[in-house]
Amino acid sequence: MKLVFVENQFGPGAAGMLSFNVMAAVAQYYSDNLRTEVMKGQNEKVLQGWLPCGVPFGYTNVENRDEPILPHPEESQTVIRMFDLYSTGNMTFEMLTEQLWREGHIYRPSQPKFSRTGLSYMLNNRFYIGEINYRGQTHPGRHKPLVSRQMFQACQEVLNGRTRSTNNRNHPLTGGVFTCAYCGSMITGELIRRSLRNGEVREHLYYRCANNHPNHPTVRWKAEDLEQAIHEDLASMKLDAELADWFRRSLTAAFADTDAQQQRQRQMLLKRRTELTNMQDRLLSAYLSSNIDEVAFQNKSVDLKAQLGETEAALQSCGDMDSSRGDAALALFNWSQQAADVWFGSKMDVKREILGEIALNRTLSDVTLCLEKRKPFDILVKRPSFQSSRGGGI
Ligand SMILES: [Zn+2]
Repeated sequence: MKLVFVENQFGPGAAGMLSFNVMAAVAQYYSDNLRTEVMKGQNEKVLQGWLPCGVPFGYTNVENRDEPILPHPEESQTVIRMFDLYSTGNMTFEMLTEQLWREGHIYRPSQPKFSRTGLSYMLNNRFYIGEINYRGQTHPGRHKPLVSRQMFQACQEVLNGRTRSTNNRNHPLTGGVFTCAYCGSMITGELIRRSLRNGEVREHLYYRCANNHPNHPTVRWKAEDLEQAIHEDLASMKLDAELADWFRRSLTAAFADTDAQQQRQRQMLLKRRTELTNMQDRLLSAYLSSNIDEVAFQNKSVDLKAQLGETEAALQSCGDMDSSRGDAALALFNWSQQAADVWFGSKMDVKREILGEIALNRTLSDVTLCLEKRKPFDILVKRPSFQSSRGGGI
């Protein structure tokens, strides 16, 4: 069994263009070049992307400020195998427990077999796809995901059982796509049949919060209104044509700049390395021809060695710039500009995927849709939410 990190969180299909590399490239781009400009005035995120408390099974805390959470060498393989097995859909928790045990995956020495509760908790834990749930909010994590989003989703569908998945086909934006802004419950679907005077029957789909508490505001959206609101929200990422052109040009220029700068730095370091090696040679010659004494030779030699070490280290860290990064960033930007248009033409499963890729938290109140954008889409949004002009109820 091989430990494979999820490099491509984004599967095939319309949203698949948003490859992990693209995201990484753009995130890097923003942090390198635009951060101070764009982030100015914006509040720093509650989280830096690292889970503040203990890590779940499969990960381990290490003393490294840059990457304090790492996949645990053995446990991470167990997690991957667990999702893998369960996603097939023909395993109960009991069978899964036994299968993992047979394959030598253990929970911990004192309790080698996974419990039913443990399995259920883990298969529902979005930490494994790189997200952090903290005080009721989802945040993008910076730890390496162990499981792809498709794999996670496949397991969710098995967990929810066939009934729920049949239900999803009729009420496509349910099953956790949206949560209620007041109580956090999943938004559910409701099909209302109305008989017209001519005897025809019309069906209307509503999305609503099923919480009937008397103090709870009515959260109930006509399906068409919700789709319209989503479309408008996606369109809010669209810059006007002139600005978009400027953005494309600066994106390209910024990547070219970084490229050239790295090139120059590399040349400089290579030159320095040659100089230091030559100095070592000359020093040795001087010592061998007795022009300097041993103490002077030793001192200077240690000094040169240290400098050479520093230069080597700098060369290592000044890695080769991946020139495709700029193209990838451009592709992502172009995609964001089309997302709203793609939305209307897409099938429901693609729509769900688009929402998942673009927004982390998707909430509905009585009048407002809020799609909290993932990076880097958040930067493109002109307004984080908007008032919908939806029609009256029935
Ligand atoms: Zn509610």
